[in-house]
Amino acid sequence: MENKISRRTLVQASLLAAAAIPGLGVIRSAHADALPPLDPNDPTAKSLGFVTDPTKVDNAANPTHKATQKCGVCAQYQGKPGDARGGCNIFVGKSVPQGGWCKVWAQKPGA
Ligand code: SF4
Repeated sequence: MENKISRRTLVQASLLAAAAIPGLGVIRSAHADALPPLDPNDPTAKSLGFVTDPTKVDNAANPTHKATQKCGVCAQYQGKPGDARGGCNIFVGKSVPQGGWCKVWAQKPGA
């Protein structure tokens, strides 16, 4: 009987194991500053109304928008308090400014 493990199976198992280690999230956050900035002209960013400057939000199209709603206090923001930029769970692989905003904004618990 042959009992070989394919390279694909090994890689998949490694990725699942890595995902199960909570500490890796800290490493991901630590590297958020190295992420390239999200381009406001990115099609997904545009569709979600992303802006780097919240004074540019179209309040007529976004009537629930408030000046206090910024990436830095959004539940999706990965940066730490005081960081100029941070990762975002919605725009994976990109960084957003702490003062940015998009339609997905939701209050970060405790912020
Ligand atoms: S989801 Fe939150 S952190 Fe991400 S761009 Fe939108 S407002 Fe900013």
